[in-house]
Amino acid sequence: MGSVLVFIDVPSLPLPRASRELLALAATIGTPAVASPQPLSEDAAAELAGYGVQRIFEPSQPLPEVLVAAKAAFLAEAVRAAAPDAVLLGNSFEDREVAARAGVKLGSGVITDAVAVAPDLAVTKSVLAGSYTSTCRVETGVPIITVKANSVEPAERGAAGSPERGLVTVPETGPAAVVMERSEKRVSGRPELSEARVIVAGGRGLDGDFGPVEELADLLGGAVGASRAATDAGWIEHSAQVGQTGKTVSPQLYISAGISGAIQQKAGMQTAKVIVAVNKDADAPVFEIADFGVVGDVFKVLPQAAEEIRKRRA
Ligand SMILES: Cc1cc2nc3c(=O)[nH]c(=O)nc-3n(C[C@H](O)[C@H](O)[C@H](O)COP(=O)(O)OP(=O)(O)OC[C@H]3O[C@@H](n4cnc5c(N)ncnc54)[C@H](O)[C@@H]3O)c2cc1C
Repeated sequence: MGSVLVFIDVPSLPLPRASRELLALAATIGTPAVASPQPLSEDAAAELAGYGVQRIFEPSQPLPEVLVAAKAAFLAEAVRAAAPDAVLLGNSFEDREVAARAGVKLGSGVITDAVAVAPDLAVTKSVLAGSYTSTCRVETGVPIITVKANSVEPAERGAAGSPERGLVTVPETGPAAVVMERSEKRVSGRPELSEARVIVAGGRGLDGDFGPVEELADLLGGAVGASRAATDAGWIEHSAQVGQTGKTVSPQLYISAGISGAIQQKAGMQTAKVIVAVNKDADAPVFEIADFGVVGDVFKVLPQAAEEIRKRRA
């Protein structure tokens, strides 16, 4: 059994669920190793060992602030040093870009949007707006695979240990572009949309008032999503848009409220495990893919659902 190199950027403690999912998946294929583009504390390394990580690769010098180019160069060198059977990354925009650039440097095939990876490295992904499931395999170089959040159960933590640590020298990469300024995004306290296990999404049916959607999302510890009609109207920020030209999400639960269910919306959410739709029109297309449907007014149904949840928790 060979090793599987997992790219984990800044592992905060405790290790986020998305990273633990990648480590769990890696362990089903081989021995997990980690490529961390940031130097790790002893505690972080010990925690990674608790998830079965035997080797950690870090850059020998801090990486320059050149967007993702340096991270990709580091990952390529870490792959050369680790000689893994496969490389796993998350499926965020940044991770996919790192994967693509590292793939070019290594002459390796890259598969994105994976929802499963078999021990023989056959990769399952959902394609064409989720209407087909395809199985594919990298034929050239070390397979580099980006995996959607919530695709596997996260690894359980075992005893901490001290993994072998290797420093990787990263060749000069830039600066082709430099970061001039950073401003922190307003913190909502809600989980990141593409990693959330619960999403409550609203559409034009909310008529500008996302209050009921936000209330239900907060009660369920979920993220708030939206249709393009709602983001275009300026009722909520564009980063909340789910769909073909927005985010692709795969939560355990997706509650669609006042959204008709156009094909471009479905493209981003139909791989959700359970879909609950609330719409006052019984013929709305969203009911074709919903596991549970409520024909009713969002302004009555969502507050009632919130009330019931509160009552049961009391
Ligand atoms: C190239 C392209 C890309 C696109 N990308 C995206 C994308 O990424 N994401 C996306 O979402 N769309 C996308 N769209 C737009 C998409 O085609 C739809 O226009 C959009 O999804 C409609 O949003 P909606 O369902 O909120 O609005 P509508 O289609 O207007 O539906 C509103 C729904 O709310 C219901 N409703 C109204 N009032 C209530 C109430 N009080 N209670 C309950 N239900 C109520 C209505 O019955 C209706 O079904 C794209 C379109 C194109 C052409």
